[in-house]
Amino acid sequence: MDVAERLHAVRMSIAEAADRAGRAPDAVKLVGVSKGAPAERVAEAVAAGLADVGENRVQEAAVKIPVVESAVAQPPRWHLVGHLQTNKAKAALGLFDTIESVDSIRVAEVLSRAADRPLPVFLEVQFQRAGDRFGFEPERVEEALREIDAFPHLQVVGLMTVAPLGADPDGTRRVFRELRERRDRIQQARLAQSVLELSMGMTDDYQIAIEEGSTVVRIGRAIFAP
Ligand SMILES: *Cc1c(COP(=O)(O)O)cnc(C)c1O
Repeated sequence: MDVAERLHAVRMSIAEAADRAGRAPDAVKLVGVSKGAPAERVAEAVAAGLADVGENRVQEAAVKIPVVESAVAQPPRWHLVGHLQTNKAKAALGLFDTIESVDSIRVAEVLSRAADRPLPVFLEVQFQRAGDRFGFEPERVEEALREIDAFPHLQVVGLMTVAPLGADPDGTRRVFRELRERRDRIQQARLAQSVLELSMGMTDDYQIAIEEGSTVVRIGRAIFAP
């Protein structure tokens, strides 16, 4: 299957998962994650209608984005989905429309200071206690949201998570459900400026994520793997 056919298959499968959960198919936005994929394949996906593209590294994106944009009629929106080092914040602002991986107060502070426009961001929440993964502990999300919403240029538009490494489907479902419930509590307490998006679900677990209320899925391999 070529990229356009795979994109179509992924969209069908998103719609089916939404339907199973009694949700509208357009309640779930697809971000195609193109890390590791050559620019020509990304351009094919964009030409086939992919409007949101994710990259996880600033350096790779800096090379790829201009090539993709010169090859397509309508440029996509670019999402950073990987850890951002503070010394790359300025470069990231020049490349990405949305930063989905704000994983510390420090990085939010640096982004806010460097930004000259309202910048939509997601707070990355980390459910994997051990290991060196980045992100806010679930218990600290409300506090982080309050602090970051007060920074001049940042607009927290959602929460993002990656399921813990090696989790089985039940464990993955529990994590996604926990993030959704936390989002709901934030909403009930009116701590957020708007209704927060839930960015959760990748190639191996997006159907579970959609059943648990995901509004953004970040899918790489199912679209772009060789
Ligand atoms: C790579 C990546 C994805 C996409 O993962 P696939 O398993 O290829 O679908 C999504 N989110 C983040 C943060 C990633 O690094």
